[in-house]
Amino acid sequence: MLCRPGAASGTARQILPTAPQTGAPGRRGTGAGARRPLRSGGMASDTVRDEVRAWLEEHWDPQLGVVEWRNRLADSGWGCVTWPTEWYGRGLAGSYEGVVREEFDRIGAVGVAAGVGMSLAAPTILTHGSDDVKQRFLRPTLTGELKWCQLFSEPGNGSDLAGLTTRAERDGDEWVVTGQKVWNSGAHKAAYGILMARTNWDVPKHKGISYFAIDMRQPGIDVRPLKQANGYSTFNEVFLDEARVPAANLIGDQDNGWAVALTTLAHERGANTARRPKFRNRDAGRCVAEAAQEAAEYFATYAWYPQRAGRPDLVGPQVRETGQDGDAVVRQVAMTVATQERLNRWTVQRSVAARKAGRPPGPEGSLAKLNGSRLARLCNAAHSEIVGAHGMLLGPEGPQDGMVGEVLISTPAMSIAGGTDEIQHNIVGERVLGLPKEPGGDADVPFRAVRTNLGRTE
Ligand SMILES: Cc1cc2nc3c(=O)[nH]c(=O)nc-3n(C[C@H](O)[C@H](O)[C@H](O)COP(=O)(O)OP(=O)(O)OC[C@H]3O[C@@H](n4cnc5c(N)ncnc54)[C@H](O)[C@@H]3O)c2cc1C
Repeated sequence: MLCRPGAASGTARQILPTAPQTGAPGRRGTGAGARRPLRSGGMASDTVRDEVRAWLEEHWDPQLGVVEWRNRLADSGWGCVTWPTEWYGRGLAGSYEGVVREEFDRIGAVGVAAGVGMSLAAPTILTHGSDDVKQRFLRPTLTGELKWCQLFSEPGNGSDLAGLTTRAERDGDEWVVTGQKVWNSGAHKAAYGILMARTNWDVPKHKGISYFAIDMRQPGIDVRPLKQANGYSTFNEVFLDEARVPAANLIGDQDNGWAVALTTLAHERGANTARRPKFRNRDAGRCVAEAAQEAAEYFATYAWYPQRAGRPDLVGPQVRETGQDGDAVVRQVAMTVATQERLNRWTVQRSVAARKAGRPPGPEGSLAKLNGSRLARLCNAAHSEIVGAHGMLLGPEGPQDGMVGEVLISTPAMSIAGGTDEIQHNIVGERVLGLPKEPGGDADVPFRAVRTNLGRTE
């Protein structure tokens, strides 16, 4: 089997057909705070700090609606400084992001929207989308008006993503999509999906896939939430029955969707789509209140993600509260968790530094992801060692108000989401260590002739 290399206000229908609200021809604006022409990349960070500070002091208005404020960010380029100047950015290297974020935090200003849209859809569209696609989708994504989900995995094709069998057939100016996706986080709240579908069955599997932006709110799409063992409903099954996608929503070239997906997956390994923004003072004004409300609604779906990561922060307190801090075995287990937690932090810092230095996502993403799975498993073992059978109790009667029980059920997801541990090992083996590719693949066979675990593809 070949493998998966990783893994507001108004509706999208109202927003998308219209041109962006300010500026012409729809990229960046000329209104309040429109930015000056591109400055060269090698600027001193003090210069950037001075510029963003001056701009924020002039333009940050906590009483604005959050969408209006983010439109100002789009016009000025200060919301997405690494994006190109013609697409709402300032064309700066990633190394300046920290300085800009510090200035936003200093004054308490709200940033662009968080989530799948900004971490997966937008970077993919920036890299592969036509100007028309960029113009219609980037601005409402960064303002938070357009929420996205990822429609990649299928019941028979998770790791073997290139074996997907959801089909898209051309019908005039549209594509007609039929198939089933699964494990689609947040699809029940999303207005748009990034979708991979097969458009050519007569070529090898990686060469016949196309990548689309699909409107989730249409009769041909049925989103069914799944109930998880830990009680949450993050994922969905998504059934597509002759759903329609305008031909103009193709991202990248027809049949070249695999290359487009690789961009998404590289960002998926490097990003945490559930990293929640922090708001110091929610009473600071309308803008902060609206952004905090938006975040509360969006991240409610991901409330179990800290438990999924193992909650290493609970290990020390649990050892002390249960009076086991003199037990040599328990101390050893707790130290192993603490050591791995620091190793992970430093690896992530290395990855962030590489991105800031302007290097594209690389193997650090796979290594950081593997470290995350390892830490989650170590935490799981440590919690079990410390609380024993009580860890099976969920709810207020369980240890740490049931959080430990939630950890024990949730940590396996770490080794699966965004590409399983085994797949990450394959990536590291092939791309970092230069080992030979997996033997016996079906990468050169026309997809129509490939047999899958669901039978023949057609
Ligand atoms: C928290 C979470 C969020 C997710 N969100 C999304 C989402 O928003 N959108 C989306 O499309 N998907 C999402 N997924 C799905 C996820 O990408 C898949 O579950 C993942 O890629 C694995 O696919 P699978 O479940 O089909 O497992 P399978 O591919 O069936 O794998 C089963 C087992 O076989 C092993 N295996 C498979 N192939 C190989 C190989 N070549 N070599 C060695 N071992 C192999 C795997 O490692 C695994 O242990 C999410 C999953 C989780 C857990």
